[in-house]
Amino acid sequence: MRLVLVGPPGAGKGTQAQFIASNLSIPKISTGDIFRANVSGGTELGKLAKEYMDRGDLVPDEVTIAMVRDRLSESDAQDGFLLDGFPRNVPQAEILKKMLEEFGVALDIVLELVVDDEEVVRRLAGRRTCSQCGRIWHVDFDDKKDDVCDACGGRLYQRDDDKEETIRHRLEVYQEQTAPLVSFYAQERILVGVDATGPVEEVTQRAMEALSPYTD
Ligand SMILES: [Zn+2]
Repeated sequence: MRLVLVGPPGAGKGTQAQFIASNLSIPKISTGDIFRANVSGGTELGKLAKEYMDRGDLVPDEVTIAMVRDRLSESDAQDGFLLDGFPRNVPQAEILKKMLEEFGVALDIVLELVVDDEEVVRRLAGRRTCSQCGRIWHVDFDDKKDDVCDACGGRLYQRDDDKEETIRHRLEVYQEQTAPLVSFYAQERILVGVDATGPVEEVTQRAMEALSPYTD
């Protein structure tokens, strides 16, 4: 199965990507992993990407696309893959479509993890990080009432990334970029939405059920 996974920050996309890929026995291909592999492997694309990252700039689309093409050409990806973090926008989706056409294949499905904004804010803004051991606690899920780490006694604080304002901004950016991508795949008739609220295992199960009509 050739699959793309999309979902907002806080939807547990990385975790679901891993579980779904392993259930389907296909490689999980995330842009983060591809970047790291190219940089640590010292490939030409990796060197190029590193120059941008070291300057704090975004890696240009052409570099990302070339890395994705290389990765999708590898032998383990010939019978299927799960893409996580690519494509990010409609132009990238169009390029991916052409790339797969060249390979003589096509995407089977785009799975969208659906979580409403308030749930994402509740999940992320409730996180507290221990300043000593780095462990993360959740005010609701761990019923954490004080700001002391139960593991080491360190003081808990809220990371800037977990502040409500930051989360709402990331959600807005995601909506702007991804809404057109989701409509693109809806028009292609390969979009399937899955409710991503609730425990991780339940979400994985729902995803597998949604994918079952497309598996052999
Ligand atoms: Zn601690």
